[in-house]
Amino acid sequence: MQATERQYQNYIGGKWADAATDGVNDNSNPADTGEALGRFPRSAREDVQRAVDAATTAYTSWRRSSATDRAAILDRAATIMERRADEIGRALTLEEGKTIAEGVGETKRGASILKFFAGEPWRPTGETYNSANPNTFLYTERVPLGVVGVITPWNFPVAIPIWKLAPLLAYGNVAIFKPAELTPLTAHLITEVFEEAGLPAGVLNLVHGPGSVVGNEIARNPGIHGITFTGSTSVGRELYAIASARGARVQLELGGKNPVVVAADAKIEQAVEIVLSGAMKSTGQKCTATSRVIVEQPIEGAFTEALVERVKSIKVGPGIDTASYMGPLVSASAEKTVLDYIDIGKNEGARLLTGGEKLANDNLGQGYFVAPTVFGDVRPEMRIAQEEIFGPVVGVIRASNLDEAVQIANGVKYGLSAAIITTNIGTAFNFVRSIEAGVVHVNSETAGAEPHVPFGGFKDSSSFSREQGRAAMEFFTQTRTVYFDMPS
Ligand code: ADP
Repeated sequence: MQATERQYQNYIGGKWADAATDGVNDNSNPADTGEALGRFPRSAREDVQRAVDAATTAYTSWRRSSATDRAAILDRAATIMERRADEIGRALTLEEGKTIAEGVGETKRGASILKFFAGEPWRPTGETYNSANPNTFLYTERVPLGVVGVITPWNFPVAIPIWKLAPLLAYGNVAIFKPAELTPLTAHLITEVFEEAGLPAGVLNLVHGPGSVVGNEIARNPGIHGITFTGSTSVGRELYAIASARGARVQLELGGKNPVVVAADAKIEQAVEIVLSGAMKSTGQKCTATSRVIVEQPIEGAFTEALVERVKSIKVGPGIDTASYMGPLVSASAEKTVLDYIDIGKNEGARLLTGGEKLANDNLGQGYFVAPTVFGDVRPEMRIAQEEIFGPVVGVIRASNLDEAVQIANGVKYGLSAAIITTNIGTAFNFVRSIEAGVVHVNSETAGAEPHVPFGGFKDSSSFSREQGRAAMEFFTQTRTVYFDMPS
């Protein structure tokens, strides 16, 4: 593909606009860092203020827009996204690195989320109650929060913004969208989709730029009433402190250290496929990726051997190559973090069974490729078993029985997703009831989220409110209670 030096812009008040600064962020392909993907603005605080002004103006009419209009716009956005799935999916693969099947699949998932929320304006938004006073009509209605900041990471640059923007818009809010600096192109394309769908000016405003400036201004700006954030725990906590101190509502989706428990009665082949897919797809860069496999002692040896064989067989290469099972890491800094954790694991005494190094053979030298890595003899207290690595690294931990397995699974600060592989329904049921995780899978991988059901974690993985499905209404609306009496 030809290198592009195209200069992209922000989108504020329905117009594509240059930022107030001259700073640029050069976007490139993590599978081939020589491939340029355009230049994006490093916006200033002033640009956020402009977006807040445009959003505030647009809010007056958007909050009162009809269900027909909102539904039609979201429905058109879904159709456009489906029509452009190959193009957007390809852009996603080029700038983020995941395979083209995952890139296109994620874009189609974005379309499904939009379709679900296109129905939402028609669903109930309140309740009626009997009143102590027979003349009073007593009811509640869900009304929007107002101007909402949307701060998103690079790992699902289509699905995450869409699962925040679609409900936000359906419930009558307006948005300031700040995507991750590593994936500005998909954010640009998403914004084009809404523009083409006929979203009125100012309802969605895109401001590119660094988290420390644009993200921080979103946290501080008094014109922003709510912030929905997905990203790292450290940034999320900082943002929460700043924004909640000024009274804004904040939603956080943070990290995970997601376990798969493999019971002694599990079918080893099935367990291996589930772990492989959960740990290595998207190069392990999912907040729901599998990073710990806790195996009951009797089958630990056979399972580990089969997993290592299978991991050795997967093809690593540029995501754009349809033969690749796993692409590169997203950036030099992500690659360094993963390689550092591999060293930490070795130094802690875990046994490196496969992988563990940067790949530079064939055509991989120009990208951030790290071999899919399996550690054995991992102990629960090791840093590689406690901290989020966000890469293609999985550790096998032996447990003497299922109680111990659950105890190990729960022995981390995170609680996003967890899975058990077993043929025994009693074992499965006990696991579901004792695991500290917001999403639980029985005989399926830890990753994956359907658009119509709640998504979110326990403990340090989120801030209680759930995303997706009708659960999204909890965050994006507030309740008004109305006592309505007739004039006497
Ligand atoms: P990740 O590495 O998963 O992208 P980050 O937490 O670094 O996680 O980033 C998630 C989002 O938060 C990105 O859009 C990033 O630009 C933004 N961000 C980073 N630092 C800050 C900050 N200090 N305040 C607000 N947003 C930030």
